[in-house]
Amino acid sequence: MDWWPIIRRIISEYADEPMPAHVRDDPFRVLIGCILSQRTKDETTDAAYRRLFSRFSGPEDLARADPAEIEELIYPVGFYRNKSRTIVKAARYVLDEFDGVVPDRFEDLVKIPGIGRKCANIVLAYAFGKPAIPVDTHVFRVAKRLGIVPPDAKPEDVEDALKRIVPEEFWIPVNHALVRFGRAVCKPVGPKCNRCPLREVCAFAKQKSAH
Ligand code: SF4
Repeated sequence: MDWWPIIRRIISEYADEPMPAHVRDDPFRVLIGCILSQRTKDETTDAAYRRLFSRFSGPEDLARADPAEIEELIYPVGFYRNKSRTIVKAARYVLDEFDGVVPDRFEDLVKIPGIGRKCANIVLAYAFGKPAIPVDTHVFRVAKRLGIVPPDAKPEDVEDALKRIVPEEFWIPVNHALVRFGRAVCKPVGPKCNRCPLREVCAFAKQKSAH
């Protein structure tokens, strides 16, 4: 299957949708925004992010912060207690290991507490404008349902598959477009297959109509 024309269609329809505030900032704030965003809706993340950065400015003051104060600022993001401690640890690490400057290499980013593959790629793509494909829950679900990867694939398999299919200049927009498409059409529960332009090629839709 030649997936590129299909994915390109999603990019052309969804890549221009507005980005959330927590990915449109300097690298340190995008990094912290990604920690906040895990298992949390964009609107909740953005509101917590604004409260946090109206009180703190960057790694210097966050590294010395009392996690209890951060908890109050970021509530009700998911796991706000753990995240407040992780945020302090991440700020300390950036300060101690990188002189307060967020690195622009994947290998360095994933050493920062709370930063896994997805957040490292988000920082690379959105804060540094470097070609990277973050695979979040929406990108992962859409790629598996379409049949781009097998049902037992891992997020890194989706990342590798998309990197093979999508030309490098579209790596950043493909993430954004698939996230928007996943939220609007290919929803986690009750995907709108009847009005989805991809239903003819989608493994999930074919399987559903066969039953
Ligand atoms: S046909 Fe359904 S499952 Fe497949 S991509 Fe579209 S909405 Fe998702």
